[in-house]
Amino acid sequence: MKRFQGWGDINVDYPVPEPARNYLSNYFGNPLKLKNASPEDILQRVPQSRLKPHPMITTDPLQRASHSRGQSTNDWVDMMDGLVDSFPDGVCYPTSLQDVQDIIQFAKKTGAYLIPYGGGSSVVGHLTPLKEFSPSLSIDMTRMDRVLDINEQDMTARIQAGASGPVLEQQLNDQGYTLGHFPQSWEYSTLGGWIVTRSVGQQSYYYGRIEPLFAGGHMETPRGSMLLPSIPKSAAGSDLREWVLGSEGRYGILTEATMRIRKIPERENFYAAFFPNWDEGVKAEMEIAQRQLGVCMSRLSDAMETEVTLILSGEEKLVSLAKKGLNLFGQRDERVMLIYGVTGENAATNLAKREIKSIIHKHHGIGVDFYLGDAWKRKRFLTPYLRNTMWDLGYNLDTFETSLPWSVLKDYNKTVMHDLTHALDHVNEKVLAFSHISHIYTNGASNYFTYIYRRSKDPVETLERWRKIKDMVSLRILEFGGTISHQHGVGIDHKPYLQKEKTPLGMQLLKNSIKTLDPDGICNPGKLLDMENE
Ligand SMILES: Cc1cc2nc3c(=O)[nH]c(=O)nc-3n(C[C@H](O)[C@H](O)[C@H](O)COP(=O)(O)OP(=O)(O)OC[C@H]3O[C@@H](n4cnc5c(N)ncnc54)[C@H](O)[C@@H]3O)c2cc1C
Repeated sequence: MKRFQGWGDINVDYPVPEPARNYLSNYFGNPLKLKNASPEDILQRVPQSRLKPHPMITTDPLQRASHSRGQSTNDWVDMMDGLVDSFPDGVCYPTSLQDVQDIIQFAKKTGAYLIPYGGGSSVVGHLTPLKEFSPSLSIDMTRMDRVLDINEQDMTARIQAGASGPVLEQQLNDQGYTLGHFPQSWEYSTLGGWIVTRSVGQQSYYYGRIEPLFAGGHMETPRGSMLLPSIPKSAAGSDLREWVLGSEGRYGILTEATMRIRKIPERENFYAAFFPNWDEGVKAEMEIAQRQLGVCMSRLSDAMETEVTLILSGEEKLVSLAKKGLNLFGQRDERVMLIYGVTGENAATNLAKREIKSIIHKHHGIGVDFYLGDAWKRKRFLTPYLRNTMWDLGYNLDTFETSLPWSVLKDYNKTVMHDLTHALDHVNEKVLAFSHISHIYTNGASNYFTYIYRRSKDPVETLERWRKIKDMVSLRILEFGGTISHQHGVGIDHKPYLQKEKTPLGMQLLKNSIKTLDPDGICNPGKLLDMENE
């Protein structure tokens, strides 16, 4: 069962091992012991619904509260510290296209605002019902979760948009296929959410990001149905799929998508390597990308993330032995870890592995073929649960990400690390930050930061600390010519920074498209960008 507050399944935990706790208290000083708001506290805040009745809509306070936020820091402070003060006025669970069409008509007639809801895993405020747009209705898509049809000749599958990662993979795997899209939120996030937020899976280098996997589909808008045929490639003007990708619920509801699928691969393995420092590791990553070698993923952790990963493994003896071994080869505190994977047919993966190994050697790296790669695979969806434990220990853990050209990545990384280290000096607080490169391209890569700071006993102050960091970092990203988001989207949190990336003319184009498909502005208003009347 999904947690009401925090991330993930209620029965899954990621305890922080003793050495890691000690490390944190040595770094930060003792964290405060803070109490979370109880579910009852939250439910008491749910006001009377203002929606007109409809047989498909529930106004049950628990349902409304469960759909009121996603997973951003704002969302966490609201739900964990009990600051949440806006809720959808109702929730509905469509099971068919007809249901979706009926609900859109109901909203048009009664003046309700619609917030499409997939897995609720947004980390940038996509799902918050804004008080100025009420009454609002959350449309939970998770009952539209079937693989409708597999076309074996075309290697495509028609899948309903509310299918979560495990639900759609199970249905495809039963027929010998996979979509191969594995974001870290895979357990809960849905196909529709992935498409409209332009999500990226961990093995995108082999399977492709969500964009090339999305071959066509059906978007139901207040102006009617937008049908996207699944044509292999077309030169017939602009590609309408591009408009749906990244639309963040503003055009209406994606009800199904035709996805490019693959046969379940013959082989899939993950391995590790250590480089003496970040610079050597980055050079190796760049070479892997520019020679377009057959890896499925290639994730380079900086020195701090490498250290944190080793501490969190809870394998004290093994780690100490490994460190001694690496020291003998001259790899000390600056060492960085690469986790890479190979997916596909045996012959191709053997070749890829050989080529990667030669790059590792060329850049003074040491390959480790056992334990670490498997451990990464085992824990790939478990790591986010660490955020729950950290919060309860008195810390907020959040992330931000961008992608930039190789030519500026190194300077960007160094500058942002420096910014973060001093971001909370004004309140005498420290920030612990680390980063990795996780998605590589011939012309650049994504750089993903994780940072931790102590929560304050005043939740508003906890949020202020987060806001200071978000603004500082977002401006740096733009200064270095990166994107405000490589994979999480815009939502509310990145809205102030979008215009710089898109330009005023680009923003006008986006606004006009919303006006065309949703002239009354009833679909997820206040997210992605502000319309003139919002
Ligand atoms: C622990 C964790 C790990 C994450 N890891 C990754 C990662 O590895 N890669 C990555 O890309 N992202 C990641 N994310 C971010 C998030 O999972 C993605 O943005 C994901 O695509 C959101 O999907 P969802 O189904 O949960 O959508 P939701 O969060 O429910 O909604 C997101 C947006 O999509 C809209 N929407 C949802 N479904 C539909 C639909 N059918 N039609 C129209 N609009 C719709 C909503 O209105 C909202 O604007 C992570 C988040 C968490 C919490």
